[in-house]
Amino acid sequence: MMIMSEQPGQIALLGGSVDRVTQPLLDLSLWDPVQQPVLLLNLPADEQDRVLHVVRCDPSRYLYPVFCVLQSPLSPMLADGLLPQLDERVPDMLERLALLTPREHPDDMEKLAWYSWPRAHFRLLPRWQAGCRQGYSYPLLDCLLGADAGASLPQLVSERLLQSEQLVDRVRLCNSCNSAHLNFVDVCPECSHIAIQAKPAVHCFTCGHVDDQDAFMQQGILRCPKCVTTLRHIGVDYDRPLEKYRCLSCHARFMEAAVQARCHECGHAHKPDDLVVSPIYEYRIGKLARHIAREGTHQLHLPLTWGAPMVMDHFPWLLQWNNSLLQRHGGSHTLLAIRVEHLAELRAELGLLKTQQRLAALLARLQALFRDTDVVCQYSDDQLLLLLPHTSVEDWQVLQGRILALNNVEGLDALTLNVKAEPLPTVLGDDTGLWLSHWLDGSIPDA
Ligand SMILES: [Zn+2]
Ligand SMILES: [Zn+2]
Ligand SMILES: [Zn+2]
Repeated sequence: MMIMSEQPGQIALLGGSVDRVTQPLLDLSLWDPVQQPVLLLNLPADEQDRVLHVVRCDPSRYLYPVFCVLQSPLSPMLADGLLPQLDERVPDMLERLALLTPREHPDDMEKLAWYSWPRAHFRLLPRWQAGCRQGYSYPLLDCLLGADAGASLPQLVSERLLQSEQLVDRVRLCNSCNSAHLNFVDVCPECSHIAIQAKPAVHCFTCGHVDDQDAFMQQGILRCPKCVTTLRHIGVDYDRPLEKYRCLSCHARFMEAAVQARCHECGHAHKPDDLVVSPIYEYRIGKLARHIAREGTHQLHLPLTWGAPMVMDHFPWLLQWNNSLLQRHGGSHTLLAIRVEHLAELRAELGLLKTQQRLAALLARLQALFRDTDVVCQYSDDQLLLLLPHTSVEDWQVLQGRILALNNVEGLDALTLNVKAEPLPTVLGDDTGLWLSHWLDGSIPDA
């Protein structure tokens, strides 16, 4: 392991001098990580946060270790620690950073993977900001992924680039505009007016009259304004109704006020139960991020299936067995192949994360077209096989129409589907695997 104090050239320093060997810089533009891979900041809080933000947004320098002498609001999210942690963390980080093979124009997944994997201490931390519409943001994600960061988070978690760890907070958001800027007000349950008042009331036992206590008060004693009975003993002459609130607008009496959440951004009023509840987590590195950091994303498999897909090894056997059953006992099943056209090109153009987002939307719609009893299997990166039991020619023609209709759905238009069907039973020959590949590449004519 390297001992930092023996490597004086490693640390560039921005700001006031510190009690260790460093290379002082006049300003950030002079920091060359090839010369000094570690940046140490000893700046006033505002200035330090600005520098941290600039470094993590900089495509050529965002991966390098940055430490701070003093904490600033953004340092827990964007720096790698404080000065006392530098010696412990840096050697391991530099060793791992050297193992990465970053390429130009990385996609979002790669950036996050390359950043998180070399940092054993990595945590993605949320930050509450009054100016932020949803209340919390993830400053590091904003730096690495830019404007799409917030929208990408659920996807990054479901793809296991990030793994939720500690629950930090639970926020309620407006269900019209997703704003966290809400005002909760007590209102009249009858007319929703905000002018309500807690007023003690009296219920006369003699005539049943109910009114504000003020209306019963006459020269210091309680007297019913309706039947003029003097009310001396609570429980005997009168009692107090549970409805202790009164609406000053519609004069209704009620026990408990209703609560309304009014959005400061869009003005909509909601019942608290209708608000979107959003848990805010701290995240750590997920399994896929480790994989991407070491292997890259080019080999990454795009999952095209849903539910509990059958592994490809078993599919030819199942096909063969079903075909034999049908030949012997009658009935008709359908073999269906769906190919997603130009998936590789799309992936090169949009990056893996966005391609996965589009695919996920497509698969959700596809899944809705099939039954639980249909067998689904991913044949290749861009091809799905389905075995649909008990389907007639008309059934699958309808289905084929519905699948092809997805090509015209807004937002999915970059993905084009191609459908091929084969009614079963058919003549499969001795090698079902071979038959499948011939059928898929078109060397056996379509049914
Ligand atoms: Zn009375
Ligand atoms: Zn009212
Ligand atoms: Zn709103």
